[in-house]
Amino acid sequence: MEHDKGKIKTLKNNLVLLAEDHRNNQYVLSKMLEPAGVRSVTASNGMEAVEVIKSNKSVSVALLDLKMPLMDGYQAMKEIRKIRPDIVIIAQTAYALQGDREKIIEAGFDDYLAKPITLDDLKSVINKYLPGE
Ligand SMILES: [Mg+2]
Repeated sequence: MEHDKGKIKTLKNNLVLLAEDHRNNQYVLSKMLEPAGVRSVTASNGMEAVEVIKSNKSVSVALLDLKMPLMDGYQAMKEIRKIRPDIVIIAQTAYALQGDREKIIEAGFDDYLAKPITLDDLKSVINKYLPGE
């Protein structure tokens, strides 16, 4: 993956959805994005993530934790695809086992990030999948 150490090139009018059941991780990710000028909205489970997508047309990237209560990341991804097929959906997983990437991409995610996610990781996926403005 190409690394762009500079600023995130887009997203001024877009939102990143951070879906994660651990509040600490949610907080860390949103605080990471803030200085880069990227606004985010959070969800604590898959059902909440789907609701956010339904009610918020500005979301262009969704980071979904795979293991969440009520609805897991796989199911949430499928529901989000039905509502907004154009959203970039990235899985976030603590289980970076060999073969997982294939399984995750095959399921329908655009990509995946292994935890702990760094600002460089975030910049890379955002700059890779979203066209500049
Ligand atoms: Mg989780």
